[in-house]
Amino acid sequence: MSAADIASRVRAGELDPIVVTEKALARFEERNPVVHAYLDLDREDALQRAAAVSERVSRGEDPGQLAGVPISLKDNIAVAGATLTAGSRILQGYRSPYDAHVTERLVAEGAVLFGRTNLDEFAMGASTENSGFAPSRNPWDRKRVPGGSSGGSAAAVGAGIVPVALGSETGGSIRQPAALCGVTGFKPTYGSVSRRGLVAFGSSLDQIGPLAATAEDAALVFDVITGHDPGDATTTTGKRPSAFLAPTSVEGLRIGIPEEFLDPSVDPHILAQVDQATDLLSEAGAITKVVPAGGLAHANLSIPVYYLVSSSEACSNLARFDGMRYGPRHDDGDLLDAYLATRAGHFGAEVQRRILLGTFALSAGYYDAWYKKALQVRRLVSDEFTTLFKEYDLLAGPTSPVGAFKLGERTDDPYAMYLCDLLTAPACLGGFPSVSVPCGLARKGPYKGLPVGLQLVGRPGEDHVVLAAARAFEAIRGEPERPVVYSAAE
Ligand code: GLN
Repeated sequence: MSAADIASRVRAGELDPIVVTEKALARFEERNPVVHAYLDLDREDALQRAAAVSERVSRGEDPGQLAGVPISLKDNIAVAGATLTAGSRILQGYRSPYDAHVTERLVAEGAVLFGRTNLDEFAMGASTENSGFAPSRNPWDRKRVPGGSSGGSAAAVGAGIVPVALGSETGGSIRQPAALCGVTGFKPTYGSVSRRGLVAFGSSLDQIGPLAATAEDAALVFDVITGHDPGDATTTTGKRPSAFLAPTSVEGLRIGIPEEFLDPSVDPHILAQVDQATDLLSEAGAITKVVPAGGLAHANLSIPVYYLVSSSEACSNLARFDGMRYGPRHDDGDLLDAYLATRAGHFGAEVQRRILLGTFALSAGYYDAWYKKALQVRRLVSDEFTTLFKEYDLLAGPTSPVGAFKLGERTDDPYAMYLCDLLTAPACLGGFPSVSVPCGLARKGPYKGLPVGLQLVGRPGEDHVVLAAARAFEAIRGEPERPVVYSAAE
């Protein structure tokens, strides 16, 4: 059942949130051993939260827009008293003393927090294979990755355990796993969702957003979590349009398909599905047009720019993990030994690589050549999008150049893993809202029978336009196929 259906039935007193949670727990028991989506789940806590919502209904109160909806949070989003490992051994055993802003918003609207989902360590990765614990599996084929870094959230929703989950994105970590697991993933405009209580990776890029079985549910959750927070100075003030405001028709919408999104490195069978999707959009009245090469002339530099900027910010953000305030500590020897041993012993290889890269890019003598240059190119990429947005309401293309690849396929080659962000990193660099919506299964090739995502990117602040287009596409496309693990027990 969708989140929207659960909430409306719970609000009407027709459905008991405890029953909803018990069903989600049963699906968790059955399917989590297949997909390993969760790092932790406190069953009692979930049931107590459901009981609290149930009591509100029986007192005649309205529990809110997400009444009784079980929702899973990536384990880098704070929930008071719950684990907050960020997928890292350096935070093993740590529990958050407070709720993130998004957590407060969800609870205020009657959501039932349901477990902590797996991720690549500190959200650095594209497969969950960098998790300090164990990788998650793709619900369509457990020998394959669910994508990352929000792979646990995508696998939980893809396997039908919960209708919605929250993820976080810095360069593609919501949209890419959503595409690989056949669910909708939405990265909001930078500044529209508070980052207070999100473990920081690249602060100028990070955003929290929903992964959901339907675009409608993604919009519902976005509406709840968006808004100004005095605790995050980068959140925008003022009233924002509801995700349900824009008409769910694509009639007259100008959709550009930049040549650069149709890069030759994109799997041709993924391109074929996306082609079909944009045809559907134009049949439904959208004005679709291929934007000739050169429109996004610098987009191909997004990968080096993204890795330089995000690693530079990460090396500063991760300096706080030294064993003194959080998590385990090695404290033999003097203070410096304790720092070195704790960090060397508990950060995984990829996190160490990023810290080294960031430290190098920011160091005296190299700063101008690397970090400053990266910021300049970031600006160029962003400006090119802004220019295209004068002519187009949305830009469309594939979400990911590849489908769900096999576990281990890219672990020996960090650069091959980085290339997964080719098509998602640009929207992060410019702070643009962007969604990935399932658009069928690849018909042939290495990803045959696996989900493909259609990506739509919009103007900053036009989250509602992006979400409305996703909902319209969903209506045109019809019910997506679901993996066996999902349907077997429905
Ligand atoms: N795959 C990218 C990385 O490893 C994106 C991660 C993210 O968006 N958090 O940095």
